[in-house]
Amino acid sequence: MRRLSEKVAGIAPSATIEISNAAKRMVQEGIDVISLSIGEPDFDTPKHITDACIDALRRGETHYAPSQGIPELTAAIAEKITSENGFSASPDQVIVTCGAKDAIYEAMEAVVNPGDEVLILDPAWVSYEPCVQLAGGTTRHHAVDQETFQLDDSLLEAVNGNTRMIVVNSPSNPSGAVLDERSLQLVADICTDHDIVALSDEIYEKLVYDKEHISLAGLGDMAERTITINGFSKAYAMTGWRIGYAVAPERIIRQMNKVQQHTISHPATFAMFGAVAALTGDQCCVEEMRREFLQRRDYVIAALHGMGYRTAPADGAFYAYVKVEGDDMEIARRWLREAHVAVTPGSAFGTPGWERLSYATSTANLKEAMYRISTV
Ligand code: PLP
Repeated sequence: MRRLSEKVAGIAPSATIEISNAAKRMVQEGIDVISLSIGEPDFDTPKHITDACIDALRRGETHYAPSQGIPELTAAIAEKITSENGFSASPDQVIVTCGAKDAIYEAMEAVVNPGDEVLILDPAWVSYEPCVQLAGGTTRHHAVDQETFQLDDSLLEAVNGNTRMIVVNSPSNPSGAVLDERSLQLVADICTDHDIVALSDEIYEKLVYDKEHISLAGLGDMAERTITINGFSKAYAMTGWRIGYAVAPERIIRQMNKVQQHTISHPATFAMFGAVAALTGDQCCVEEMRREFLQRRDYVIAALHGMGYRTAPADGAFYAYVKVEGDDMEIARRWLREAHVAVTPGSAFGTPGWERLSYATSTANLKEAMYRISTV
């Protein structure tokens, strides 16, 4: 058989696969594994959102829609951005995508040329790098300070004439850290001085605990060079709906829309009506879930500190990032083998020596998992 695509072959399988496959095998063997490797809220989508989707289906909203998204949703997103995120957006500056992940991929396709570098700040979510590679670009990695998880002037050293984009993710998956205004201003200054586009992944925006979420595009004139990524998966427990979005200058949205038109067309029409209800309906459900995550966060962080572990500042998202002594892959294997607790090694995110523990699971599971980890 002739060779398959070298571009795709060059994408490394995620370092998370070994541990998650081993965990799945153990579950199949009947072993009671507690998974702290989950990346999604354990809540059901609030009823008023599913009702709106069901109503849309019954009304016959089962046809093709405009590729940028139904007008009701692009308008609701523009309104949300303008009222909450410190910069203004019109519906033409919005594209609705199949989850935030698709928005990130389309953004890379729209901006990156062969030879361009995309700067990724480690620890970083696992899909940024493959999206850059699929778009034909290359990545450069810069490690954030592993005490504060904020940015400092050393970021400038990672920038060169080929840098086309910087990816920022606050609140962060995996660290849970929330970038403060100083860090974001540093990114803004570098982008402005070096004509760089910023991709600001704000998917965990609604899950902040002790700090305020700041949108990069709201700083100075950053809206002119920022692609803000967001979606419904984390804030509204809608992971399976596959609805995300990007907000960016029209010239970038137009390019992303071309990628979308020729690939996915748009997310499911009736699902987009559910997303309208999410944004325009009562926001109490978001706050209720945030409070529940906050309680779990407090419990898990206190338990880990009680065992003598250091953690990254867990200011947002639903992850505790735990510093471990020794090989993080080996430790994750041992926790799985001996404690039957599955976690994600920091190597998967570009920072060996850490483990990511998701607290998007019940308090009972978290208590049992902390007990088990304390015994190995
Ligand atoms: N960005 C980050 C940082 C994530 O953690 C995730 C999902 O885990 C995504 C984007 C993708 O979210 P979606 O389900 O909207 O595609």
